[in-house]
Amino acid sequence: MTKYVFVTGGVVSGLGKGITASSLALLLKARGYKVFMQKFDPYFNVDPGTMNPIQHGEVFVTYDGCETDLDLGHYERFIDEELNYTSNITSGKIYKSVIEKERHGDYLGATVQLVPHITNEIKNKVYEAGITSKADIVITEIGGTVGDIESQAFIETLRQIQYEKGSENTCFVHTTLIPYIFGSNELKTKPTQNSVKDLQNMGIRPNFLVCRTPYATGDSIKEKLSLFCNLPKENIIDCVDTNNIYEIPLNMHRQRIDELVLKQFNLKENKANLAEWENLIHTMNNLNNEVEIALVGKYVELHDAYISVAESLRHAGFKYKTKVNINYINSESLEKDNVNLKEIFKNSRGILVPGGFGNRGIDGKIKAIKYARENNIPFLGICLGMQLAVIEFARNVCGIDDANSTEFEPTTSEPIIDLMSDQKSVINMGGTLRLGNYNCKLEKNTLAYKDYKQDNIKERHRHRYEFNNKYMDLLKEKGMVFSGINEESNLVEIIELPKHKHFIACQFHPEFKSRPTRPHPLFDSFVHEAIKK
Ligand code: GLN
Repeated sequence: MTKYVFVTGGVVSGLGKGITASSLALLLKARGYKVFMQKFDPYFNVDPGTMNPIQHGEVFVTYDGCETDLDLGHYERFIDEELNYTSNITSGKIYKSVIEKERHGDYLGATVQLVPHITNEIKNKVYEAGITSKADIVITEIGGTVGDIESQAFIETLRQIQYEKGSENTCFVHTTLIPYIFGSNELKTKPTQNSVKDLQNMGIRPNFLVCRTPYATGDSIKEKLSLFCNLPKENIIDCVDTNNIYEIPLNMHRQRIDELVLKQFNLKENKANLAEWENLIHTMNNLNNEVEIALVGKYVELHDAYISVAESLRHAGFKYKTKVNINYINSESLEKDNVNLKEIFKNSRGILVPGGFGNRGIDGKIKAIKYARENNIPFLGICLGMQLAVIEFARNVCGIDDANSTEFEPTTSEPIIDLMSDQKSVINMGGTLRLGNYNCKLEKNTLAYKDYKQDNIKERHRHRYEFNNKYMDLLKEKGMVFSGINEESNLVEIIELPKHKHFIACQFHPEFKSRPTRPHPLFDSFVHEAIKK
């Protein structure tokens, strides 16, 4: 029988529920169990695909083409399993499907209500994740904070699942905050007590508390929490602030959370195989080199907007015992006439232009790409970054002054980046991009081939525009190599400039497949080149 762990959050948002959920999942996997993860988001967008990255952070894309919350990126990086369409469910998705069923007549005349129709729909999504993944344990994180009006239907569903499956098959982990009050100089438990009360009012008694705290809590705090929140002292886990999220699984393991969860489930404890993760942490704590990489984007005020890219750079750094410092550069700031690029990039040993949408900041990114190309600085372009690298090359090397993307100039006379014909009739914004895994065939004797060491790869996509093959011969003549092609649709996937030390760009998003112990080949070789003396 599948076991279910639910991770809720109390007191404030932003406590690291996603990291708690991922860390527990990693530990259970290390003890030999097949684990699957899922996140519920209480907002009414069907998915975060249409949301502004400045508000919501990055949109993470699964291999099967779902646009999801950035927490799924943490999940995949921690548990090293590919997640799918069952992994991110929003209120929007739930209500949409209930309303569609109502219009279809599926409810046979019943009055459609929050309980049981919405809650049944949510429940089915939990069970579907268990059935389709065949996991021993499904870990579901509930977005938002307990007490929010928006998340009540989800919490009510968890109560029903607990009743249906019994407490040996369900486990509730509540992530909470223990603030420190200066002056009286003490840690305070009241906010946690109140948020546990909120949960109890909704019929749920948490089995574990994971306490985000600036300092270890100690016995007296744990005794108090145990008494007021109705759970054993050993089930109260400290999560002391750290600037290295990858250490959290080991901290939780030292407090035996994995063992205690398995006990509750009557599952064999098995020995935890954490050697690889321990090695990783050892490496991370012993980096003996540093390198700066410039990331030129327009959402740089919120680093979460580029979280998978930043993590991928760090992962590649670990392999070379190097700390990668990211110099976030707002592309708009490069657009002024008198800007001194040499000064701005003086410490950067590589330039990366990530994905993006819309006009704003485009010229700044093109300037950065030109600077990288002309000064032989290692360059990695991702998605929009590839499209702009092609535009820059067409304009400045091939003399096609008006080369542009129809995304920025719909009537351009030189549409070197254009909509594919099947995209021209698309009216809806949501879920209509080219999404998820597509094949890519690599050309031998190219940088791409050297990086991947394979003929065929699959990478995740999220874009609407494509390279226009009409321009291919001209660009080839001037030295651009088209090293990766999707043969099914004859679409360009990777370009490179062999005359340059390291200039490569891809139409897909490699950052979604990088893992801390297994950096992605394109990030690996980019960072490796950047640290070469
Ligand atoms: N805006 C571009 C497109 O839609 C690139 C998208 C991206 O970088 N993810 O094709």
